[in-house]
Amino acid sequence: MTRQIAPDNNGQAGEPMREYSPAQELINNTAYIVMILLGTVILIFSYGGSSGGRIAAIAYLAYGIAGSIWIMVFVCPYCRYFNTRSCPCGYGRIAARFRVKETVECFDEKFKKHIPVIVPLWFIPIVASVVPLIRGFSLPLLVLLVIFAINAFVILPLVSTKHGCKECPQKETCPWMKYTVKPAG
Ligand code: SF4
Repeated sequence: MTRQIAPDNNGQAGEPMREYSPAQELINNTAYIVMILLGTVILIFSYGGSSGGRIAAIAYLAYGIAGSIWIMVFVCPYCRYFNTRSCPCGYGRIAARFRVKETVECFDEKFKKHIPVIVPLWFIPIVASVVPLIRGFSLPLLVLLVIFAINAFVILPLVSTKHGCKECPQKETCPWMKYTVKPAG
């Protein structure tokens, strides 16, 4: 596999960058896709398949898709992985179809500014199902919620920090890595 050399924060050549195949990109997207699909099912389940529940579920699904596009539009252009095969999830190459590359010095700022836009995706299904669960306990709904929480709060961050982000040349300045991984030494 050919490898590109990632520039470090001073623009100098650094570590060789890993490149991801389409299959690896799909695997790296799996936890996010599972979170959105589970959240959609939980919303339908929580409201007994009522029209309100279906509308909420469709809105959540649309929000999940829009959240990915938001990141591609407002964060990826500032990333060193933009338009390379070294973006673990493939967003960087999709983003290059409708955005041009911007300065990487702004990555930290753009990341902090735009990541909060998608954070509610992690909490909406949990918050929305609390009242239905209290009103009428449902074991299947509880099981779905537990699976959702494990995927969203354990598996998804683990895949990001231990896999794709681990090899990222800008992990020193990335807020996600700063808050989730303790520096060695
Ligand atoms: S690594 Fe993250 S910010 Fe960079 S191009 Fe890929 S999805 Fe976008």
